[in-house]
Amino acid sequence: MGQPSDRLPLFYCRAFGIIKHKCSGPFSFEKSAGCRQSWRMNSNADLAALIRNIPDYPKPGIMFRDVSSLLLDANGYRMTIDRLAALVDPDTRLVAGIEARGFIVASALAYVLGLGQLMLRKPGKLPGEKIGTDYTLEYGTDRIEMHVGHVQPDQKVLLVDDLIATGGTALAGVDLIQKGGGRVEQALFIVDLPDLGGAAKLRANGVRVGSLIGFDGD
Ligand code: AMP
Repeated sequence: MGQPSDRLPLFYCRAFGIIKHKCSGPFSFEKSAGCRQSWRMNSNADLAALIRNIPDYPKPGIMFRDVSSLLLDANGYRMTIDRLAALVDPDTRLVAGIEARGFIVASALAYVLGLGQLMLRKPGKLPGEKIGTDYTLEYGTDRIEMHVGHVQPDQKVLLVDDLIATGGTALAGVDLIQKGGGRVEQALFIVDLPDLGGAAKLRANGVRVGSLIGFDGD
């Protein structure tokens, strides 16, 4: 399978700053060791500039990367979704968003790609029969849930969230979708904090990871 940009018409690639892997130009791709398609466009400084950085939130020492300021910018939001959409594997059948900021990304992506959206929700929100996955946070545990029967056997599901840090949330999402019978081969994020190792953990679990912006040193 080629790079996602291989599937796109050239005008689309030009319009959204995506070029073929072999082309030279102002853009470069990060290709992670051992992964066929894990890469990040390094050309998204325009989007990175729209993300608000809030030091010491929610606790001292954490730099909170606030995507709400990016979403507030009409063009920034549109470019975010268009650039993520260009990375999506063509055989994806469903977009799974993790509550709550993941929904904002997953909804728009599902809409532009003409796919359905699967909601991975916090506990106690789903009315029907459900399954869940518990995961560990820095302090304590959390849980996400999904409705039974909302993924078809072996259906290919794209996992989406606003940001990946340690990867606990995303790995729980992968586990939950697999419990539900689906297959997760790709996960996309607006922001990756690579030094926290989450993307590497997903890759170690066989999931290709794409992101638009990386903040090193967090
Ligand atoms: P993790 O499970 O550690 O990968 O954390 C990912 C989840 O926590 C995502 O849903 C993010 O929205 C949120 N998150 C973690 N760290 C940050 C951060 N520095 N800035 C903004 N959101 C964060």
